[in-house]
Amino acid sequence: MLKENILTVLIAVCLAGTGCAQTQRQDKDSAKEEKPTMKKSKAEWKQELDPEVYRIMWEGGTERAFTGKYWDHNGDGVYLCASCKAPLFDSKTKFKSGSGWPSFWQPIDSDAIDLILDKSFGMIREEVVCAQCGGHLGHVFNDGPEPTGLRYCINSASLKFEPR
Ligand code: FE
Repeated sequence: MLKENILTVLIAVCLAGTGCAQTQRQDKDSAKEEKPTMKKSKAEWKQELDPEVYRIMWEGGTERAFTGKYWDHNGDGVYLCASCKAPLFDSKTKFKSGSGWPSFWQPIDSDAIDLILDKSFGMIREEVVCAQCGGHLGHVFNDGPEPTGLRYCINSASLKFEPR
C-alpha cells in the first residue's frame, strides 16, 4: 500500500515537472513586474524604438495580417527581440501557417519566452512575451505542426532578423 502511494506521488511529480518545463504560466501582472531581467520604463522604450514597434510590444497592439516584414521571410538565421535583442526563434522552426504572421513551432530556448494567460477580447489565449524584457510578442496556439503541435504566432514588428 505504502509502495503504491509513493509510486503515485512520483508519477505526479514527474508529470508536473514536464508541464512546468514546457510552459511557465504566470498571471499577467506578476510576470511583468517580477520576471524580466531587463527593466525599462515604457517612456524609455518609447524613446528608443520605432513607433510601430513600441505600439505593438508595449501597448499590446497587433499588426494586420500579411503586412509585417517577416510573415513571408525565409532567411536562414535567428529572430531577436525587437526591443532588447534577446534571441527568441530560430528560422529552422519557422513554418508557413497561412495566418499572415511569422509562425514558429518552438522558441529558441524554453527560457527565452514567457507565457501569460490572456483573457482579453472574450477569448482565452496564451500571450507570448520576451522573458528578458517582458515585451509583447504574440500568442501561442495548439494547432501547429509536429514535433510540438504548437504555433507561436508572432508579430513581425516584435522581431529583428539576424542572418546566420
Ligand atoms: Fe526582449
